[in-house]
Amino acid sequence: MDLDYDYIICGAGGAGLNLAYRLAAKEFHKYRILLIDKDDKQKDDRTWSIWTEGDGPFDHLAEKSWSKILFKNDEFEKVLSIEPYQYIKINGIDFYNYTLDKIKAAPNITFLQDEISNIETSSTLTNVKTTSSGTFKAKWIFNSILQVDIDKSKHNYVDQHFKGWIIKTSEPKFNPDVATFMDFSIEQKSECRFMYVLPTTAQEALVEVAIFSNNILKDNAYDEILRNYIEEDLGIESYEIKETEFGVIPMTTYPFESANAHGLTHIGTAGSAAKGSTGYAFLHIQDQVEFLVEKIRNGNPPIFPKSFFKNKYRWYDDVLLNVLLNKRMPLGKIFGDMFKKLPTGLMLKFLSNKTTMIEDLRIISKPKFLPFIKAAINEFWRTK
Ligand SMILES: Cc1cc2nc3c(=O)[nH]c(=O)nc-3n(C[C@H](O)[C@H](O)[C@H](O)COP(=O)(O)OP(=O)(O)OC[C@H]3O[C@@H](n4cnc5c(N)ncnc54)[C@H](O)[C@@H]3O)c2cc1C
Repeated sequence: MDLDYDYIICGAGGAGLNLAYRLAAKEFHKYRILLIDKDDKQKDDRTWSIWTEGDGPFDHLAEKSWSKILFKNDEFEKVLSIEPYQYIKINGIDFYNYTLDKIKAAPNITFLQDEISNIETSSTLTNVKTTSSGTFKAKWIFNSILQVDIDKSKHNYVDQHFKGWIIKTSEPKFNPDVATFMDFSIEQKSECRFMYVLPTTAQEALVEVAIFSNNILKDNAYDEILRNYIEEDLGIESYEIKETEFGVIPMTTYPFESANAHGLTHIGTAGSAAKGSTGYAFLHIQDQVEFLVEKIRNGNPPIFPKSFFKNKYRWYDDVLLNVLLNKRMPLGKIFGDMFKKLPTGLMLKFLSNKTTMIEDLRIISKPKFLPFIKAAINEFWRTK
C-alpha cells in the first residue's frame, strides 16, 4: 500500500465521507487521497433530519420528506408550513452506502479501515499513524476525529444527548404528512428536554427524546421517557421497537478550528460544524466541504479564514447558550415565541446561519428581551 498521499481524510463519517465523495469527481483524480476510519460504516447508527430547498447533494437519499412540521410547548401548539423548505430524513446507512460506493469506485481514493493513533503536523511533516497499517504522509490532512477536552469553565458547553426508537404500531397512529419538530410539553426536570417524531408511514415513526444538559442519564431513564411519551402523549398501546439510536453531541462555541495548522484542517464536529445552540451539523458540514472543495479546485491551501467561524452566528449561539446554561428563560418558551410570531421558513433560515441583518433583528426581537440583554452583557464581559 502506498505511504504518500496528497490528502489524507481522517474519519469517514458525516464530514469525511462528504468531502471524499466530492473529491471522487473526475476533476480531482489527479490527487491521491487516503480515507481512513476505524469502522466499516455498515451500521445504521444515526438519522439525519435536515431542512432543504431541494438543492442539497444528498436530498435524493431521503426516506421521507415533510412540508409541514408541528411545534409544541406548554402554551402553544401548531402545525406550521415550512415553505420554501422541506424537512427530510436521511438514514445514516443510506448516506454511508451511497458515498462509499462512489468513493470506492474512484481511481484516486483508497479507503482504509484502521484506527488512527496519532496525527503529527509540523513545518516538516504531516503524518497520520495507524494502529495496524503503519504511518502515512500527506501534503494536507483533513481531520474529523473529535478528541478535544473542552474546559467547561472557560467555554459555553452543554451536551445534547438523545435516544430514539423506530417503532411500528399495530394500527395506524401517525399522520405521515406532519413531522413533530419539537415538543417541549414533556416534563423538563429543570433541564431542556423535547421530543421529536418523524413518521414515515401511518404505522411507523422515529420517536426520539433530546436533552440539553451535562447530565447523561442511565439508559433505562431514556427508555422510560420514550415509553411514557408513546403511551400517554401519543396514545399508542401496541407497538414494536424496530431500531434504536443514541447519541451525545457537543453544543458549544468552543473554537475547534483553533487546532487547525499548516497542513491540517479540521472538519465536521471536530471543526466547529455543529451549531452551538442546536447541535445541527449536517448542513453546516456541506457549507464547509463546499468551501474546501473550491479551494482545492483553485489550487489554494484548503484553509478557512477566521471570519468563517468568528461571525455573528457564533455570538448569537453564545448568547443563547448563556441563556440556557444560566436558566434565564426556558428554550421551549424562546422557540415557542419565535415559531408563534414568525414565518417558519425564516426561522429555519436563521438556524441555517443564512439570514440578513434585517431578518436577524426581526427574529431576535420576538422573545422577551431582558434575559437576552443580561446574557449578552454577561457574554461581553466573559469573553473580553
Ligand atoms: C445519533 C446522531 C444523530 C444526529 N442527527 C443529526 C441530525 O438529525 N441533523 C444534523 O444536522 N446533525 C445530526 N447529528 C450531528 C452530526 O450531523 C453528526 O454527528 C455527524 O455525523 C457529524 O459528522 P462528523 O464527520 O463530524 O462525525 P462522525 O460522523 O461521527 O464521523 C467521525 C468518524 O471518525 C471515526 N473515528 C473516530 N475515532 C477514530 C480513530 N481513532 N481512528 C479512525 N477513525 C476514527 C468514526 O468511526 C467516525 O466514522 C447527529 C449526531 C448523532 C450522533
